[in-house]
Amino acid sequence: MSKYIFVCGGVMSGVGKGVATSSIAQILKSRGFRVTAVKIDPYVNVDAGTMNPTEHGEVFVTEDGMECDQDVGNYERFLSENIPRENYMTTGSVYQTVIERERNLGYEGNQVQVVPHIPLEVIRRLDRASRKAKADITVVEIGGTVGEYENILFLEAARIMHLQNPNDIIFVLVSYLPIPSMIGEMKTKPTQHAVRAMNATGLQPNFIIARSSVPLDTPRKRKLMLYCNIPEKNIISAPDIKFIYEIPTNFEKERLGDRILELFDLKSKRRDFGAWDRFVTRVRKIRKPIKIGIVGKYFGTGAFTLADSYISVIEAVKHAAWHWGRMPEISWLDAEAYEKNPRRLKELTAYQGIIVPGGFGSRGVEGKIRAIEFCRKNRIPFLGLCYGMQLATVEFARNVCQMKNAHTTEVNPSTKYPVIHVMPEQLVNIREKRLGGSMRLGAYTCELKRGTKSYEAYRARLISERHRHRYELNNDYREAFEKKGLVVSGVNPERNLVEIIELKDHPFFVGTQFHPEFKSRPLNPHPLYREFVKAAISKRKPR
Ligand code: GLN
Repeated sequence: MSKYIFVCGGVMSGVGKGVATSSIAQILKSRGFRVTAVKIDPYVNVDAGTMNPTEHGEVFVTEDGMECDQDVGNYERFLSENIPRENYMTTGSVYQTVIERERNLGYEGNQVQVVPHIPLEVIRRLDRASRKAKADITVVEIGGTVGEYENILFLEAARIMHLQNPNDIIFVLVSYLPIPSMIGEMKTKPTQHAVRAMNATGLQPNFIIARSSVPLDTPRKRKLMLYCNIPEKNIISAPDIKFIYEIPTNFEKERLGDRILELFDLKSKRRDFGAWDRFVTRVRKIRKPIKIGIVGKYFGTGAFTLADSYISVIEAVKHAAWHWGRMPEISWLDAEAYEKNPRRLKELTAYQGIIVPGGFGSRGVEGKIRAIEFCRKNRIPFLGLCYGMQLATVEFARNVCQMKNAHTTEVNPSTKYPVIHVMPEQLVNIREKRLGGSMRLGAYTCELKRGTKSYEAYRARLISERHRHRYELNNDYREAFEKKGLVVSGVNPERNLVEIIELKDHPFFVGTQFHPEFKSRPLNPHPLYREFVKAAISKRKPR
């Protein structure tokens, strides 16, 4: 059986539980253990696909097409491996399985109860995920914070697992220690309460990862030790840092890996941290900036963190920029502002490259199309991702091919030129409102055309990339587009779907129907992002 590390949150959310989970998994992997990471989301949504990214953060898509929480993206980036769909569950998905099993007489006439049947299904899923990964150690992140109703059944599952195999289960509490400005002193009390809340569920943390703006001092470590019942050496100081990829190194400085292995009674195998450490050291020294603008619509929605809505895009830009020794400066540009005042488009010249990311619906669409036109005409390196590629097609149709009011049928179903249209199998999904988990999702093959920028970037004929969309380029217009100079550089061979478009006489103008950002890794930037940033560096100087 795999050993398990449950990572829970205390005091408040948003303090880096996902990155802590990823980092723990990574430092154990670097010692030669087979490690996998699982995310438990307490939402009743069956998957993350139906959640608004401005509130919940990006919807990350796995190779096998699961729409999951952005933390799964962190696991992939820190572990440099693909995470399968079994490694993500929500309250909704767990209940759905239990209810379906009940409907199939799977409980053989017994009463089906919240306890124990829901925790037992959680345990079954954790076991399935760790077996599939053949994991020595499975790190499980339980969303939310201890003490709230939503995750109680997951904590109950962990309690049962601990009862059955006490030596194979470890609990980590990622907590937050505030420094109230009127006091100016770091307070441990909220963390003490969080540990009490955890105790009330029958669990005792083995470790506290003490998040704060500054490092934890010895008196506070001692206080936590005494009141939270945890050895001092298992209280890990985790101050704020700018650069998340440094966190595994910081954890190792606090000897977290050694302590975990001690508790599991496992012998540390080789420690292969060299490449990561060198990468961290190299990035820390980078000073020269590169200015990238992201044109989106998610800006006037109120209080939320934009960085979370586009996290994979941002990380992919960083990986690529660091590869070329540049520090990315990313700016959010409001598409709607270009609709109200097209003169503002001029601000795009202040950036070395522009990205139009994925999206849905009509808000901000005309502004994005204008921004794309501006990049095309002013030779600003441009990368269009999914909706960004579709809108680049619309722009080309309208302004180069003179197809007046050409559009995607997502926004204008009765356009005379439906250059982007819904995929036939999606019509029935839309009509019958079967909208959850039914997009074109996950990895599909794409065949590249030799001599194109895309081919030069990948240096391969067949590639595979991850998708999440219902609409596609309408092949009826392909010939007309190609005649006018649009290059179709990537096509899905099974269904003849256009996957990449580009322009020849432009420093870099590429649009992808897929989301390349899902496959970018810190030590291995995505080829298209890499070439986009390269073009941005060499073709334009910042103002
Ligand atoms: N709304 C578009 C579609 O469904 C694009 C989706 C996206 O950008 N991920 O096809």
